[in-house]
Amino acid sequence: MKKLAELIFPNISKVPQDYLKLYPIRNLENDAKVTRYAPSPTGFQHIGGIFAALVAERIAKQSKGVFYLRIEDTDQKREVEGAIDDTIETMHKYGMYFDEGMTGQLSFKGEYGPYRQSERKEIYQTFAKDLIVKGLAYPCFTTSQELDELRKRQVEEKLTPGYYGEFAKYHNLSEDEYIEKIKEGTPYIIRFKSDGDFEKRVEFHDEIKGDISFPENNQDVVIIKGDGLPTYHFAHVIDDTLMRTTHVTRGEEWLPSLPIHVQLFEAMGYPLPKFGHIPTIRKQEGDSRRKLSKRKDPESAVTYYEEEGYPAECVIEYLLNLINSSYEQWRTDNPLADYHTFIVHLDKMSKNGALFDIVKLNDMSKDIIAKMPVEKVYNYYIVWAEKFDKEMFELVFKHKEQTEQFLDIDKDTPKPRKDFAKWNEVRDKIKYLFDEFFYKEPIEKIELPKGVSMEQAQSIVKGYKKVYNPDVNSQEQWFEDLKQFAIDIGYCANRKEYKNNPDKYKGMVSDVAGAVRSAITHRNNSPDLYTIMKILGEERTKERFEKFCIL
Ligand code: GLU
Repeated sequence: MKKLAELIFPNISKVPQDYLKLYPIRNLENDAKVTRYAPSPTGFQHIGGIFAALVAERIAKQSKGVFYLRIEDTDQKREVEGAIDDTIETMHKYGMYFDEGMTGQLSFKGEYGPYRQSERKEIYQTFAKDLIVKGLAYPCFTTSQELDELRKRQVEEKLTPGYYGEFAKYHNLSEDEYIEKIKEGTPYIIRFKSDGDFEKRVEFHDEIKGDISFPENNQDVVIIKGDGLPTYHFAHVIDDTLMRTTHVTRGEEWLPSLPIHVQLFEAMGYPLPKFGHIPTIRKQEGDSRRKLSKRKDPESAVTYYEEEGYPAECVIEYLLNLINSSYEQWRTDNPLADYHTFIVHLDKMSKNGALFDIVKLNDMSKDIIAKMPVEKVYNYYIVWAEKFDKEMFELVFKHKEQTEQFLDIDKDTPKPRKDFAKWNEVRDKIKYLFDEFFYKEPIEKIELPKGVSMEQAQSIVKGYKKVYNPDVNSQEQWFEDLKQFAIDIGYCANRKEYKNNPDKYKGMVSDVAGAVRSAITHRNNSPDLYTIMKILGEERTKERFEKFCIL
């Protein structure tokens, strides 16, 4: 239908072959994979996006392939300003870098561009024109009102809804009939002319889901919309063909459209890329699992993790663990390895859903932070605090050395402390270090050892401050001294003995240590007290004892 094609696309002079030549097969090593992240610029970064991007990024990078960014902005109503820059920045924060694709709102790098669909209009139209010439696509004049009515009727009659078979009113017009309607000025869109048979099944191998089968597509899907831009289906087939994508990894919500895509690739004569449909991240709610919802679940937004202060690599390692559950064992076997050296296997991904578990994320994050060198912890924290906790920022900036000494407690031991999963947990665990906070703490916030009253604690500390020796230089010696002091004032050093004769003693040595801890930290729990006293230094330690006694 050359005349028709010419009438619809008079300005298109290229043919598909021109583009296939312009974007030749990539010259890559044998097993190198070409993948993409293809978000729509809607301005909301969903954690599922990072998850999908990570799958694509790992598959490409671990095979020395190409990972590129394509912006799918054919639905221009949904576009939000600044969303492309935001996507790129977010990806960088999570350690993912594109080899090709958009580099900003208007710029791109790579030989297979443009990488923004709204700038590829001429390309899509060239392919659509070719399909019309070949009688594989046609203009459809059905109005949206007619479509609604059709759908209603089909639902009532319990038929599969859609534009297919006998309902595809413009499927079989003659070229002249199409031309006439266009010349009359009737608005239209372009549909693909399906010859699929819903009774026939297609066997398919998905890299993640395994072997699947589905009925052939028999719907005449829209390929070019009224605004001249393509639908997702059409753009996907053209773009992934011309950009020479080898592996389309995308959310499983696209699985129901796969029959359309397979049909389009085949009808146009282009080889199918491999597909891997990524399970949707879900969350357990009671007995059921549901999709992470933008409205209900703050953790669906990528910004949540930054605000809470999860280091990006903790989120990434958690997601790797969701991608392949063997990650955890790998991490145990390779405690210090860079996560990039873990090999992701699509066929080992859970087929039925990725269950998001924040408790697990916290555990993993604690482990990772515990293993980080102290300088890194400090740097991460101060960068976070500058943005999200100005008061702490001022303090840790001013008291850098102390902060680092504190964060370093027990780091070099076989069991490093696992105090924080995210940076917003630091404040509460560290603020007593700073006098600016410490002396402002209301008395009712002060924690005392269980069963010890304030008077008792004060009396212990009154005695202890007299024997406190700032010059001891081992934790063991310090504790020995404390123990001796406790015994001298009538506390028991042996649990069993205390249990048998509770009336002989005022309490246990641990009560004495606890009272000293309260005076120094106002807490029942803290890292090693001896080290904290060393960090505070003699003068401040004594001051804390003094002030505790006159509370
Ligand atoms: N633009 C699509 C989306 O955001 C991308 C799907 C794909 O990767 O092909 O869901």
